[in-house]
Amino acid sequence: MDQNKNSLDGHQKRVVIIGGGIIGGMAAYFLATQGYAVTLIEKDRFGGGASHGNCGLIVPGHTMPLNRPENLIAGIRWMVKKDAPLFIRPRAEAAWIRWMLQFIRHCFGSHRQEAAAGRAGLMADALSLYDTIIRSEKIDCDWQMAGTCHLFRSKKELAAYGSTTGQIQGTRPPMTFLTKNRLRDRVPMVSAAVAGGWHDRRAGHFRPDTFMRELVGVLQKKGVRILEQTRFTGFGIGGGRAVTARTDRGGFAADAFVVATGAWTAQLSHALGCRVPIQPGKGYSVTVRCSAGVPALPCFFEETRVVLTPWADRVRLGGTMEFSGYDDTLNRRRVNALFKATGQYLSMSVPAEIEEEWCGWRPITWDGLPIIDRLPDLDNVVLAAGHNELGLTMAPATGRLVAEMITGKQPSVGLSSFRLK
Ligand SMILES: Cc1cc2nc3c(=O)[nH]c(=O)nc-3n(C[C@H](O)[C@H](O)[C@H](O)COP(=O)(O)OP(=O)(O)OC[C@H]3O[C@@H](n4cnc5c(N)ncnc54)[C@H](O)[C@@H]3O)c2cc1C
Repeated sequence: MDQNKNSLDGHQKRVVIIGGGIIGGMAAYFLATQGYAVTLIEKDRFGGGASHGNCGLIVPGHTMPLNRPENLIAGIRWMVKKDAPLFIRPRAEAAWIRWMLQFIRHCFGSHRQEAAAGRAGLMADALSLYDTIIRSEKIDCDWQMAGTCHLFRSKKELAAYGSTTGQIQGTRPPMTFLTKNRLRDRVPMVSAAVAGGWHDRRAGHFRPDTFMRELVGVLQKKGVRILEQTRFTGFGIGGGRAVTARTDRGGFAADAFVVATGAWTAQLSHALGCRVPIQPGKGYSVTVRCSAGVPALPCFFEETRVVLTPWADRVRLGGTMEFSGYDDTLNRRRVNALFKATGQYLSMSVPAEIEEEWCGWRPITWDGLPIIDRLPDLDNVVLAAGHNELGLTMAPATGRLVAEMITGKQPSVGLSSFRLK
């Protein structure tokens, strides 16, 4: 695309993006591609938040949000189980209680269908957008579009999954039922305890930490200035608009701003002048070195909600959803639970050569929808946060949408689902 395309007045428009995760990174990509002068501010390290240790799956068919009555029941049942895949620690904080009550409300009625429709719109193009970006920018990140396998131990749940993959009308992913034998053709090391599975043919995967690392080079080549160890603290205001992003390393002036601070966004309500209903949902992953004897496709171990993602010479196990506030301690029981779950579905010994044990915060909204909206009092600031458990999948369309909002183009996806409530 043309550089300086927006500079008819001889002044290249400047955008400051706050937050160096996949959402901020994709917004920077689409804005820089359209000739904007982009500065990205990151309090820590680019790609060091949730976008680092996630499972790397691009799964546009997973439209249903976490708001499900069965998740509520499981959450209550598992409150006392130390290695449960879902853990809720009740807290006497007004923001948490308000968020939880809204989360429960959104488990019922038409809310889930509405959320699914909004999520579907944002994920529909994910595979083609990633494929285009990865190929055109020559990003080396183990990208594959081979689908995913969903493995079940319970016959009842296996059968139910076919009818309740929870997709909205018309966006159902192309799923193939796999008997135990057919599953074994795809995943030869499947254990005898597994009843069967489903193959979701419309899914891809890559190594997210490698992608984020490569994205730095791509952005820099497009002229994006990335400032790490720079913490945003608020906006300088002039004429009813934001004019600078204030940080602990000084102010950065721009014509427009993007706030993409993931799970931390709720802590910035004072700086943003509004409450942002996001809670951190802590997840864990373990990355081990190995190249043989592992499944060729990512596998969901459904009853335990653990995922295995294979790459050329690594495997990552990931899962658990822990609502315990901004607590970043790594709970060893939950790490061990990832290995235990793998042993329940696959007859393979996970190699002991652990490269990384990790935990990070998913930015969870009470209705499962991300927030992509202008701030109520500052219409040159776009908030793009709360991408829940699928921020990697939603990121390219979000980046494109943010760029459309800033450049004044017709939005490629309807914005009404993503309003700040
Ligand atoms: C275990 C696990 C597995 C997952 N697997 C998948 C998957 O397979 N597929 C999928 O689609 N999604 C997955 N996700 C979800 C996905 O990782 C997140 O939704 C996504 O990474 C969120 O991206 P983000 O850019 O909003 O946030 P982040 O990546 O967390 O980035 C936010 C950034 O903002 C910075 N920041 C915060 N405050 C400030 C400030 N004041 N000043 C400057 N910078 C600031 C932070 O340091 C951080 O770098 C998974 C998540 C987890 C935890």
